[in-house]
Amino acid sequence: MPRDYYDVLGVDQDASEKEIKKAYRKKAMEYHPDRNPDDPEAEKKFKEASEAYEVLSDSEQRQRYDQFGHAGLGEDGGGGRGRGRGFHDIEDIFDAFSDIFGGARGAGRGRGGRADRGRGRPGSDLRVSLSLTLEEIAEGTEKNLRLQKYLECESCDGTGAEGGMGGQNFSMCPKCDGTGEIRQVSRSVFGQMVNVQPCPRCEGDGRIIENLCDECGGEGRVQGEESISINVPPGVMEGNYLTLAEAGNAGLRGGPSGDLRIEIEEEPHEHFERDGLDIYYDLHLSFPEAALGTEVDVPTLKGQARLEVDPGVQAGKILRMRDRGLPDLEGSGQGDQMIRVHVWTPQELTTEERELLEQLQDHDHFQPSPGDEKTEKSFFRRVSDVFS
Ligand SMILES: [Zn+2]
Ligand SMILES: [Zn+2]
Repeated sequence: MPRDYYDVLGVDQDASEKEIKKAYRKKAMEYHPDRNPDDPEAEKKFKEASEAYEVLSDSEQRQRYDQFGHAGLGEDGGGGRGRGRGFHDIEDIFDAFSDIFGGARGAGRGRGGRADRGRGRPGSDLRVSLSLTLEEIAEGTEKNLRLQKYLECESCDGTGAEGGMGGQNFSMCPKCDGTGEIRQVSRSVFGQMVNVQPCPRCEGDGRIIENLCDECGGEGRVQGEESISINVPPGVMEGNYLTLAEAGNAGLRGGPSGDLRIEIEEEPHEHFERDGLDIYYDLHLSFPEAALGTEVDVPTLKGQARLEVDPGVQAGKILRMRDRGLPDLEGSGQGDQMIRVHVWTPQELTTEERELLEQLQDHDHFQPSPGDEKTEKSFFRRVSDVFS
């Protein structure tokens, strides 16, 4: 459980936004990795402060935190999902991806001069799911996503005006005199009130377009398709997501693009169930195999592997194949593959089979005696004891 965020920053619970910002700045300066090279304690404190600030500086998150504590900040704000791996993972994924964002966003789309383009409305955010197999999660993978979205109109540079940036197609909005705002002053018992609203004529732009761009009808954006390539690090899990800033829908008339949120989904696997970093596999043995011991090939995330089963294995036993599970996203370990043993009981018998079994059923060794199961531990159990 992380420390209380207010304690981390050293502020009161009713601290103002300004106080929180100031406190964070102080901590960040103090513990910044550049000033404390090779000091893991400082690095930890720096991360802790950044995390606290990220939550407390966002009024919505802060409110949730005040109400529910750390539990209120799980993935998606739901809190109860999965193993509560929330904030840290998102940050880490973000780090893992950040160099790729740069590439994906930089490609062929100049971002310079955006501020000169007036005050168009921002585009909406996009959410997409990225479905991955357990094998892909184990290894990490590169995925191409095709997005249907609003793209900046190329023929008008997103301005919505014929000829784009170079054209002489804008004039000052006469309704708001170019300010983009309409102010209404009213008097009430509380005194004078000023109500400021975006100008309806120019939609807050301050300019109006004389000749609309044919291509986009003046919107500055067109519907289209964009491909992006995503490098997924090994060890992600369902519910993890990453946000690519400004990779969502293009804004109206040069407004900023929305964000793109990519949510990880796990495809159900034909053989395995995931439990954190471990995966479970159901092994079905015949009754003689269970009694006599056997060697079987079992599927793993990296192909078939040989598994030795000791004689006398009981149904329900769980064998462990070490390090055959999934890697930790932060690189600090590897899960195991767990083998659940099932023993198949015949459901139809020939006369001969029936006679054989009837001969065996009164033998001493065939009497269940769960209390004194053989004490000799299986190979796998011995190995896991050594390591635990
Ligand atoms: Zn106007
Ligand atoms: Zn256009």
